[in-house]
Amino acid sequence: QVKEKGRDAIEFFNVDMADKVSRQLVMEGELHRALEDNQFELFYQSKICAKTDKVVGAEALLRWRHPERGLVSPVEFIPILETSGLILDVGQWVIEEACRQLQIWHEMGVWEEGMKLSINISPRQFRRQAFVDDVAKILHHIPIPEKSLDMEITEGVVIHNVEEAISTLTTLTSMGISFSLDDFGTGYSSISYLKRLPVSTLKIDRSFIRDISYDRSDRVLVETIITMGRLLDLNVIAEGVEDKEQVEILKGFNCDYYQGFLFCKPLMVEDFQQLLISEQKSLQQLG
Ligand code: C2E
Ligand code: MG
Ligand code: MG
Ligand code: MG
Repeated sequence: QVKEKGRDAIEFFNVDMADKVSRQLVMEGELHRALEDNQFELFYQSKICAKTDKVVGAEALLRWRHPERGLVSPVEFIPILETSGLILDVGQWVIEEACRQLQIWHEMGVWEEGMKLSINISPRQFRRQAFVDDVAKILHHIPIPEKSLDMEITEGVVIHNVEEAISTLTTLTSMGISFSLDDFGTGYSSISYLKRLPVSTLKIDRSFIRDISYDRSDRVLVETIITMGRLLDLNVIAEGVEDKEQVEILKGFNCDYYQGFLFCKPLMVEDFQQLLISEQKSLQQLG
């Protein structure tokens, strides 16, 4: 009887695995076509200055508009892009698209000086030999405003070769690009890398912000990260801010910037543009 059950369990496991693998293969094929057929889009979520409540920039977030399934979350397809290597081409598209959009908003006069657009760079993309050259080529063709591009990286870019990562970061920094350490606090060696990596911003991972109102140890962690960031001359941004109570707590810790649904969900390009235009109008009324 036990044996019987055991065998069933194994068979169930295999079917499940096979199912998962075949779904991934289907998706991989679809993702190949997605790039050719222009099914990728960037959504934009604003970043807010804690002191002035103004939009100081945005993060570009990749979306896949699947012909039948509609909008697909990056959580579902980024891992497949990464294992298949497709992330290299898609990542390149993301940089180009973000720069094109940046240039458009700059020409429209809605991209204020000092505002930054952040794009997410996957470790595999960052570690590629040609990465610096590819970025340089894009910046050569698309003249974006000075110091308006920021790249969000995770500790994953550093793990294999710290020296190489530092050299890539340094070269790109000299080209006017700034760097943010994304999902900060979730990796292993964050603190030891921090003092060596030329990054300008720490993004406190959403998981620490989520329970900040009722979890004392999360509050302690967040306050410590913010204090450490200030001592190291880094900007600190809290991601995943969803309610006013979280904002009050973060204000008490002197957090520099917020990003989260409370202020703005990731918006399609047209909607985000409207937001920039109305932001611009309210600035003009003030000045
Ligand atoms: P991330 O870079 O940490 O991006 C933040 C994620 O948190 C986004 O999810 C955003 O929609 C979500 N978020 C923002 N505010 C809130 C909030 O208040 N509450 C909650 N619950 N969520 C919030 P999204 O857009 O699904 O992206 C997920 C991840 O996919 C990103 O995490 C990033 O790691 C990856 N990703 C997105 N776009 C790209 C891209 O162009 N290239 C690469 N390599 N990865 C990307
Ligand atoms: Mg990010
Ligand atoms: Mg993040
Ligand atoms: Mg994240």
